[in-house]
Amino acid sequence: MSERKLTDYQRKRDFRRTTEPAGGKAKPHRQPSFVVQKHDSRSLHYDFRLEVDGVLKSWAVPKGPSSDPNVLRLAVPTEDHPLEYAGFEGVIPKPEYGAGTVMVWDYGTYRNLRDRPDRPFSMERSIREGKIEVELKGKKLKGAYVLVRTAFGPKGSGWLLKKMKDEKVSGGWTKSEGRSQKAEVSIAYDERSAKTGRKLEQIAEAKHQ
Ligand code: MN
Repeated sequence: MSERKLTDYQRKRDFRRTTEPAGGKAKPHRQPSFVVQKHDSRSLHYDFRLEVDGVLKSWAVPKGPSSDPNVLRLAVPTEDHPLEYAGFEGVIPKPEYGAGTVMVWDYGTYRNLRDRPDRPFSMERSIREGKIEVELKGKKLKGAYVLVRTAFGPKGSGWLLKKMKDEKVSGGWTKSEGRSQKAEVSIAYDERSAKTGRKLEQIAEAKHQ
């Protein structure tokens, strides 16, 4: 089933050339996974991905997630990615689709907050109806986030990503709104891989070793 869903992903890529996984073989995790990849392609952006029904549902978030509940981030849907993609960190060679450096900026598991024992509510339905509420348990991102479909963005298909108010708000750091006293923390937070601790440049250089 997940093989068929990955048609768009596979059609855009030549797996003899790209270092990305062809995917479609990994089994769904008991605890659904999420990953945020920092992607230095034509423009620097973040890719936010949630495991749903055997694939990673994906959004490109130009400015990246914010831990400030007052900040909205545009999130533009992109093609479903294979579960294996959550572990991908490396360089996509030119002129392949998405050519550039990919960092695993954050990863972990999530919980569907709309799904309750007394009122089951699937992630598929959340996506179909245009409102997702999840609790992220990542290395960097923690607590409740909401994704809402809106009429913004390219072709009116944009979603908005926002931190929900909870106890995880105060300890967080907000990327572009960071206070100066938190500057040192912010750099480590933003610039290094949650998987390998490397910066984008180090991931890019490793390709040539
Ligand atoms: Mn991307």
